[in-house]
Amino acid sequence: MPGCAATYDVGEVRTSCAKCGSLLDIDYDWDSLPVPNSLADFEAKWSRRNEPLAFSGVWRFYDLLPFAPLAKIVSIGEGQTLLHPSNGVAKFVGLNEGNLFLQYEGMNPSGSFKDNGMTAAFTHAHTIGASRAACASTGNTSASLALYCGVSKLMQAVIFIGSGKISYGKLSQALDYGALTIQIAGDFDDAMHRVQQVSVKQGIYLVNSINPFRLEGQKTIMFRVLEALRWRVPDWIVVPGGNLGNSSAFGKAFHELHQLGLIDRMPRLAVINAAGADTLYQLYEKRGLRWNGGRPDASIINNYYAEMDDANRRASTIASAIEINRPVNLYKCLRALECCHGVVREVTDEQMLDAKAQVGANGLGCEPASAASVAGAKMLREQGVIAPDERVVCILTGHQLKDPTATVAYHTHDQNEFNRVLGSRGVNRAAFANRAVQVENNLEEIIRAIELNS
Ligand SMILES: *Cc1c(COP(=O)(O)O)cnc(C)c1O
Ligand SMILES: [Zn+2]
Repeated sequence: MPGCAATYDVGEVRTSCAKCGSLLDIDYDWDSLPVPNSLADFEAKWSRRNEPLAFSGVWRFYDLLPFAPLAKIVSIGEGQTLLHPSNGVAKFVGLNEGNLFLQYEGMNPSGSFKDNGMTAAFTHAHTIGASRAACASTGNTSASLALYCGVSKLMQAVIFIGSGKISYGKLSQALDYGALTIQIAGDFDDAMHRVQQVSVKQGIYLVNSINPFRLEGQKTIMFRVLEALRWRVPDWIVVPGGNLGNSSAFGKAFHELHQLGLIDRMPRLAVINAAGADTLYQLYEKRGLRWNGGRPDASIINNYYAEMDDANRRASTIASAIEINRPVNLYKCLRALECCHGVVREVTDEQMLDAKAQVGANGLGCEPASAASVAGAKMLREQGVIAPDERVVCILTGHQLKDPTATVAYHTHDQNEFNRVLGSRGVNRAAFANRAVQVENNLEEIIRAIELNS
């Protein structure tokens, strides 16, 4: 893939094709597998939730990702997430009441959607007998890997992070869960490059999103969305785009459900980049890159990356989880955009942080990258691409407490903090800033401050 027919056995440890060099894709022989007659069959598992695999929001859907023997599955109850209808956020986005849903993946054990994929990759690593697992990470992948290693004690976690940008919320998790943490002088793409070299040389199992099993686990986010909507396909799925694992997995999920006759229509997919890390937006919307029946025009990509390198342009955004120069799942994402009639947009850090404040003010909260979905939905509404009566699901990829520094900097308008993270660019506007009221330690002054501000 793309346009390559080489196949490998599920027991092989490799992430790219020996013939064409592209990433591998998991393909099932559905004809020889027990496929459920209807999606509603999965609901029945809830009555057996005392069994760990029926309880897991990922492995409940085992029949749709049957790549490992049941006995090898490593689950810690991931995927107990919520599809929350929010009229407050619907109003902000410009949708009719009842039409906006937030898929809150911050409820996962490590606080981000990454656990959906990690349980699957970790299971595969366990299946083939790995003793160490590695990843490069902007923070959430490493937190998730470290958690699975810490809980199961089946493997040692080796995580690679870049210097500087990782949020303390995420770094603290890796350290606390006991991962061997290698911090290299460079950014995410540098860390990614090195972890691939090291894992080949040292025989360490790699769980980055180039790992195709991660995407299998992430498909279940869409299964849970459908389940919460009583199996009615929404009109739009809106998701932040970083390495494009989620968007790729979502497209694959709907494609397979459609192939199996379990859904009768496809939703549309909107992938939202940060304006400071907008490779997909530039390639797809500005330069016309398309899946093209499995033969994307590689010269468009190569030229873009050459220009990026010549200009020494590096991704820069407050949304560190999507601060990616070269998204590893680009091809698979093009396939998803094709089969879900997709669009790509970019939103500024200001738009993202304002959207994040609205998500927070309406009760859930998320990290900056997650709010790209809400900011993107608002933009698509304003452009008339999304209609007010369409049903829209925005994916909130990570928990609010992953990056409290960004939240406090926004609400206090702390330019020093923005400048530290973003260089001179800063964040100029904070439309929904909620500053702490400074007051003397004096009863009358305190009462006055409360009455003036409430
Ligand atoms: C990893 C991550 C993303 C990016 O997802 P991709 O699948 O790499 O596109 C977005 N938000 C959060 C919180 C993440 O951890
Ligand atoms: Zn190939």
